Amino acid sequence: MPSRPPVDTVTVRAPAKVNLHLSVGPLRGDGYHDLTTVFHAIGLFDDVTVTRADALTVAVEGEGADDVPVDQSNLAAKAVLALARSAGVPPDVALHIRKGIPVAGGCAGGSADAAAALVGCDALWGLGLGRDQLTEVAAGIGSDVPFSLHGGTALGTGRGDRLTAVLGAGSYSWVLALADGGLSTPEVYAELDRLRETGPVTVVSDAAEVLSALRQGSPEQLGQVLSNDLQPAAVALKPELRRLLEAGDELGALGGVVSGSGPTVAFLARDDAHATALAAALAGHGVCRTVRVADGPVPGARVIRTL
Ligand code: C5P
Repeated sequence: MPSRPPVDTVTVRAPAKVNLHLSVGPLRGDGYHDLTTVFHAIGLFDDVTVTRADALTVAVEGEGADDVPVDQSNLAAKAVLALARSAGVPPDVALHIRKGIPVAGGCAGGSADAAAALVGCDALWGLGLGRDQLTEVAAGIGSDVPFSLHGGTALGTGRGDRLTAVLGAGSYSWVLALADGGLSTPEVYAELDRLRETGPVTVVSDAAEVLSALRQGSPEQLGQVLSNDLQPAAVALKPELRRLLEAGDELGALGGVVSGSGPTVAFLARDDAHATALAAALAGHGVCRTVRVADGPVPGARVIRTL
């Protein structure tokens, strides 16, 4: 039998996420917080192309590319190095990242790139690793990377890296409002710890209401129960988010919530037509830098092209 020609280039598409529910427990000894979260993958994507090369390099294009590191602190580069180490192969690939996910926006853009790099190198190097093995490597790179592999809608516990699929009915139409500048995830968690030292103790809530709304497949119900413990901390660090959240409410969003550590805000619409109208209204209001419309859930990181 003729052998298949080796693959030289693999392109992988990975989605952004929003957190439909995020409750944060107390700070742990290892610097992390225990979470209960519902991740939801939405149709904003980064495309990562992995090509055989003489050494590991990183190039980034697209909006916000200048703010993405191209050294070994890049999460996709970390993913390549971790997978190469565990597979015993040299990490010699050129990574090309095309950003469609807001940078430092709380939408897991860096984690998407890491997940895409894992799937791309697995295919390029012919490792044939299953999702479970890739997920183990993913969890060592960042708390959100396993979900970027997984996609869909999932309940996350532990650091957010332990996942259970959520089978919900229906699809949801979102408007993502992107703020000027980003927020640093560790700084937002630190701000939450600070607020909790001085303010009222927050009750750690479970995700039951969000899971119930997803089972019903009801955008109206889901819009009312979106919640994120990190939101007050993100608003404290970027007070203009308060005006943005109010504007979404006034303009008829079913609900709105800061995504992850922010500053992107996700507004839920009734359907695609409502999302388009809401996006235009928000853009005209001057309360955010730009808007995007996206549906969810969508699949996790997957190969879209090989050469
Ligand atoms: O896991 P990842 O590197 O994405 O986390 C970035 C930072 O966010 C951590 O260093 C920590 O400060 C904070 N974090 C946290 N608890 C989590 C996830 C992240 O405190 N569950």
